[in-house]
Amino acid sequence: MSAWRPSATVGVVGGGQLARMTQQAAIDLGIELRVLARGGEDAAASVSSLTTYGEPDSLNDLRRLAEACDVLTFDHELVPNRHLLQLESEGHNLQPRPRAKLLAQDKLHAREFMRDSEFPVPEFAPVRSPRDVETFAERCGWPLMLKRRSGGYDGRGVRVLADPRAADEVAYGDGQWIAEALVPIEIEASQVVVRARGGEVAAYPLVRTIQRDGICVETVAPAGVSPELAGRCRDLAIEIAGRIEAVGVMAVELFVTARGELLVNELALRPHNTGHFTIEGCETSQFENHLRAVLGWPLGPTWPLAPAVAMRNLIGSGFNEPSERVGAALRVPGAHLHLYGKEPAPGRKLGHVTALAEEAEEALRKCRETIEILQPEEVPWAP
Ligand code: ADP
Repeated sequence: MSAWRPSATVGVVGGGQLARMTQQAAIDLGIELRVLARGGEDAAASVSSLTTYGEPDSLNDLRRLAEACDVLTFDHELVPNRHLLQLESEGHNLQPRPRAKLLAQDKLHAREFMRDSEFPVPEFAPVRSPRDVETFAERCGWPLMLKRRSGGYDGRGVRVLADPRAADEVAYGDGQWIAEALVPIEIEASQVVVRARGGEVAAYPLVRTIQRDGICVETVAPAGVSPELAGRCRDLAIEIAGRIEAVGVMAVELFVTARGELLVNELALRPHNTGHFTIEGCETSQFENHLRAVLGWPLGPTWPLAPAVAMRNLIGSGFNEPSERVGAALRVPGAHLHLYGKEPAPGRKLGHVTALAEEAEEALRKCRETIEILQPEEVPWAP
């Protein structure tokens, strides 16, 4: 038996790259991290000896993890909220709490909550039939967005409907859809904040996000917006975090229109892809601050460590193995490579690259150059 005593034991529901990067932060703080993973090939399971194998939708598996931990947190949304409520009623410590987590799990609930709290959101309506969609279109026009209420990520479960004919072709079946006005987006941005159990909140620099096929490809800070607009994004995210009593990292995905209007797209109550730049780019990474927050410890400072910080995702373009080219990619000075240990597949996030620089373009250039070496068959800088 080892005499080592961890500073705390944290359980993470999910064994993906977010849990894997949380593991890195946990090591430094002497925290024992236990992940709930489906199999040994999961990104976090392959770097942790403390894996609970099971399913995130099994109450028994979740309970087994909770029983072994001081606090339970998440690396994804795909866990039934009723199970979380049940575990909480049994006395387990879940952070964020199930009521807040629901805002990241159910887009309809989130939209209704935000509208009722007078936070700015796109026009929306639940829809169950082509007729419902057409009624919505009479108010908001074509084309419009159709989204799954839950279970979607990386643009899956989101589509544009051009006209009534397209609305006819949808299988509405389970009533899990919402229609949404198509926003004339000028830029997409993400404001990552972290809120501790005692209510302390810290905001990271706003990032601009560049999407391709509904997937975030790049982020860059500064976001290239006016200080006034950046301030509004920060204040909005801080206000939301307080209102919903979020605990841990929360990312607020935002749309900015040409007229400077700000709309909330989505909330994520966990470390987020748009916060990866904080590992090298900020005084305290989102992963460390998430751990500090869920444990009720003081938050670390969130200030940036360079005038510009960029991040580019390594997204599978086929079944080629970028890990074979790591040695070559490391030639780019100042580019920081993160590989998640995942099997390549088209559209799958396999890793990311971060770079710090004096200017945004220079930071982006380093990231793109590195990805281009890892995926030479692509023209990866085209968003
Ligand atoms: P997911 O949950 O799969 O990430 P999102 O709701 O974030 O889906 O949508 C994915 C992308 O689709 C967004 O980043 C944005 O580019 C586009 N999008 C989503 N909602 C709207 C909207 N109402 N108007 C215009 N574009 C939208």
